[in-house]
Amino acid sequence: MEIFRSSRLRLTLVYSFTMGIFLCVLIFLVHMSMDWAMFSEQAQEISDAAEDVAETQAYQIQHPNITVDETRYYKNANDRLFFYIFTPDGQLLNFVRASFRIEPFILEFMSPEKFTAAQVQVFDLPSESGRLINVMMTSKVIRVNEIEQIIYVGKDVTALYSGLRKATYMLIILGIVALIIATVFGHAMAGRAIIPLKEAYEKQKQFAADASHELRTPLSVVMASADLLLADPSIQEPFLKEVIGDVKSEVKKMTKLVSDLLMVARSDNNALKVKIQQADLGDLLSQNVRMMTPLAEKKDISLIGEGFKKVIIDCDEQKIKQLILILVDNAIKYTPNGGSVVVRLGETDSQKTTFSVSDSGIGIEPEDQKKIFDRFFRVDKARSREMGGNGLGLAIATEILRIHDGKISVYSEPGRGTKFTVELKRNLTK
Ligand code: ADP
Repeated sequence: MEIFRSSRLRLTLVYSFTMGIFLCVLIFLVHMSMDWAMFSEQAQEISDAAEDVAETQAYQIQHPNITVDETRYYKNANDRLFFYIFTPDGQLLNFVRASFRIEPFILEFMSPEKFTAAQVQVFDLPSESGRLINVMMTSKVIRVNEIEQIIYVGKDVTALYSGLRKATYMLIILGIVALIIATVFGHAMAGRAIIPLKEAYEKQKQFAADASHELRTPLSVVMASADLLLADPSIQEPFLKEVIGDVKSEVKKMTKLVSDLLMVARSDNNALKVKIQQADLGDLLSQNVRMMTPLAEKKDISLIGEGFKKVIIDCDEQKIKQLILILVDNAIKYTPNGGSVVVRLGETDSQKTTFSVSDSGIGIEPEDQKKIFDRFFRVDKARSREMGGNGLGLAIATEILRIHDGKISVYSEPGRGTKFTVELKRNLTK
């Protein structure tokens, strides 16, 4: 059933969307936490190194005659660490060089204008190979015996950052796999969740089919009895005759409702008997116009047939007759006295044919035009009921067209009229 398929799809989509959002947030948070953990770890390391370099340099300033072993500058030797010591006017005093691929870039940043002292910063530098190089740097100002020097300490953290990037890509791939699994799982679960609903729906459809079928017999008995009573010469009192007349008219409406319900229920159960044969659509339309003329005349409506000619189509004749009847009956019902209804056989080629029913009636508001094909939808319930409508006519018309692989469309201007156009295939086997 379409409704269950679309509900299942919708449930799956909502579930996958929620899962997708959740996974995105999770990946983002994991990435941020890893980034933060890595940054704080490395920042601590270079801050400690800057401290060591500053201490050693201060010692060197205080004892200019002692040569300090270079390895004393770092307590934790690390070949990725580098430092440069400058005087405030930019003269380089001492250094442990950074690798040749990053040195030209980082020297640019080593000035108090470009680098805030004591802050730890990560620079993304381009390299010749096109890959990004990540360098983390801090600076420290030392003042000893009126002498001021600026120390820049840094580290090439490319490997760590590329590790972080790879871990994040991995997380994204895992996230996508998890999302696919979740979607498949969600689809399966939605299918399971819908099973009881489907069963209940099947039972309800069966009930509607059974109930409408069973109701037909008692209704025809009541109808026959009402006819009998009306014909009884012993009942002469006008009031009683009127009551029996009312009973008859209500039973008639109910019989129509029951047979419409039965048709809808059977089409739901795919139990609708369809007998495809060849029929002349022009003839079916003109038969209908003839049959409905007295009804139209009662309302002073001119019912006109146009373009009728022989067009042989493959169809279930009874059902196409019912379709035409629904449309013409509606056109008469929803057209005020004195209006007009035109039934027109339209364009025809070897593949398909069209016919239309247009009226000069009350029209349908644009927002209702889609809903009128829904079961039990009536724009004006009171008016529809008064006219013997039950809101099933156009739903049945849609069902008949589904069986015939046809189409129906509506064009309407409120207050001016409505036109229903039907397209039918001429040959159903093709
Ligand atoms: P009903 O038995 O109430 O006529 P239908 O399914 O045939 O049920 O039509 C649904 C609703 O569409 C009607 O109640 C009416 O409001 C609207 N409708 C159908 N045909 C026309 C028409 N020709 N002109 C105006 N309104 C229409």
